[in-house]
Amino acid sequence: MSKIVWQLPVKQSNFTDHDWIHPKAKYHAFKNNASICGKYLQDTDYFETSIDETELMSEKIQYACNKCLKMLQKRD
Ligand SMILES: [Zn+2]
Repeated sequence: MSKIVWQLPVKQSNFTDHDWIHPKAKYHAFKNNASICGKYLQDTDYFETSIDETELMSEKIQYACNKCLKMLQKRD
């Protein structure tokens, strides 16, 4: 089974050389470089916006994507 990685989605801008993260972005659960809510695709090995799952679940649950959380519960 592939590992789940919680990451902030990074938008690659066409206008600058910089990748950026939306200030109100939520953490999404990525599996095989795709968020399980189906909204984002990104190379999770490349970007370093990951958060420890335990930390996210205990302290930062409000920053987690609701849809991803629900999908994860269904999986179990
Ligand atoms: Zn999501």
